[in-house]
Amino acid sequence: MTSNEAVNIVQAADKAGHVNTSTLLIGVTGSGKTTLLATAAEYLYETYGAISGYYFADLGGYPDRMNALIHHGIVRVFRMRTRGMDLSFETAQLSSMGYWPAQVLDPMTGEVPYGVPMIPPVRRLYHQTCTCGHTRTLRVKSQLAVGNCPNCNQRIAVAATKVVEEQSLTPGLDKIRMRMYDGLTSFSEWYLQDLSKRSELAGEMGAIGGVVNSGDLSFRGNNRAQVGFAQTRAHELVSNSLSIPHQIIMPLWTALTDETSDQGGRLTIVGPKLAGSAKTEIAGAWFGNTLEAATVEGEKTGSKVRRLYLNEYIDAEGRRHILKHRSDPRYVPEYLEDAPYSAGEPPQEICTNFSLGVFFRHLQIADAKALEAVAARFPNAPGLESMPLTLDLGIADAAPAAPSPQTAPAPGLKRPAAGGLKRPAAAPKSPAPATGASTTTSAAPVTAPAPASSPGEAEPVQDTVTAAVPAEEPQAPAAPEPQEQPQAAAQPAEPAEPVQQAPATPPPAPPPAQRARAAWPSPPGVKPGTARPLPAVRRPAAPTA
Ligand SMILES: [Zn+2]
Repeated sequence: MTSNEAVNIVQAADKAGHVNTSTLLIGVTGSGKTTLLATAAEYLYETYGAISGYYFADLGGYPDRMNALIHHGIVRVFRMRTRGMDLSFETAQLSSMGYWPAQVLDPMTGEVPYGVPMIPPVRRLYHQTCTCGHTRTLRVKSQLAVGNCPNCNQRIAVAATKVVEEQSLTPGLDKIRMRMYDGLTSFSEWYLQDLSKRSELAGEMGAIGGVVNSGDLSFRGNNRAQVGFAQTRAHELVSNSLSIPHQIIMPLWTALTDETSDQGGRLTIVGPKLAGSAKTEIAGAWFGNTLEAATVEGEKTGSKVRRLYLNEYIDAEGRRHILKHRSDPRYVPEYLEDAPYSAGEPPQEICTNFSLGVFFRHLQIADAKALEAVAARFPNAPGLESMPLTLDLGIADAAPAAPSPQTAPAPGLKRPAAGGLKRPAAAPKSPAPATGASTTTSAAPVTAPAPASSPGEAEPVQDTVTAAVPAEEPQAPAAPEPQEQPQAAAQPAEPAEPVQQAPATPPPAPPPAQRARAAWPSPPGVKPGTARPLPAVRRPAAPTA
């Protein structure tokens, strides 16, 4: 590949690409992890004009390079511990879900007031229409049953109202298209410090007599239950961060390195440092990419090289560094490094190659190559535009006249032609059509006044998405091509699920009326008529601290 080709590919990839997996950067103190985060923020801004959110939990400061980006508004910083040393669990949990403090005292340091409320990246509004036709808008679902209608002054009975839920990006947070967490080791330590001051999980503590009193203060260590708890929480944080909506680059995490021996006890393993060493061997698996920053000796005596390892390697002392990336190894090198420097010859330029931006460009080259390969192999592939963005039961009159309140479409979240993402809240489950559901009931699940969902049913996360797409919905069920429906079920970025399995050979086309229903075989265990919500709008899980 000539460099000109590479430039073209990168430009094409930059237009199309996302970094669709999370990245963990490990390294000892001073190995340049935070500087690498800065290079990622530079890349995001350079390529997409978007800014980054930086969740800072370390005790020290951050390097000049990050400081300068903060100064220029390319990175926004939140110094997490200033929210309250005793609020570690809540602060870390909400931060991992993309929440941002409602008030920042100093944008340069990221300091916040104690206990400041945290604002979610997606806000949810409930538009409730009374039988008299009056619509009110609520922020909290539990308020739906509260109060009287301001128009007809009747007491509100939820079952007699129509409720439409609207999700939109929180203004002010919609600009943050990448989140960086610095770092996982600090979160774990903070958790343990917080736990050591509490009575929760302190059961063993009396037995080991671990309390030191000093004046008015008492100090304690941590017991195994607390360490285990902190480890579990750390994993949860990483999982949470994968569900933050509207990100161009999936979250970046840093961690210090730790050593442990493998299960046979023969080989020393280097991995991320968490509370205790129990997770060092496996925590890298929580991420799509696990990379390591290091300063290594150059070829000339006394010279040093800053290196970003992208692949697993065994160092001179025989320690195995568990690293990986998710891309085609043909387009991603073993490591990325800057030019060597020494005390006599200070570096002319830094982060020219020791850079996450460079790493992301390699990923995008690999992406673009994979796209080309599929295009060459399947020239008649149906293409992304063949995938329906909304699904229904496929019954001819199923298109719901969604009662859409007069609200502006959600910026950024909307799919083409859809007015924001709206779906009914607390609507009943679709009637199971497995045995002769009649077409006349098809509109009911969406618009009919609802009895409350039957107890034991999950929250209606999987209800049919009813983004109003007037141009498409009425026609879609009318002429489904047998080839197309099974394909269409494979939504992008969704892991394979039973509901997406298409029959190996589509059955011969039945008459239209039957065909509409037959197009969606329901494998055992999957409730018919349920559709995944649009992948781009994932609802943050309720905080469970
Ligand atoms: Zn009313």
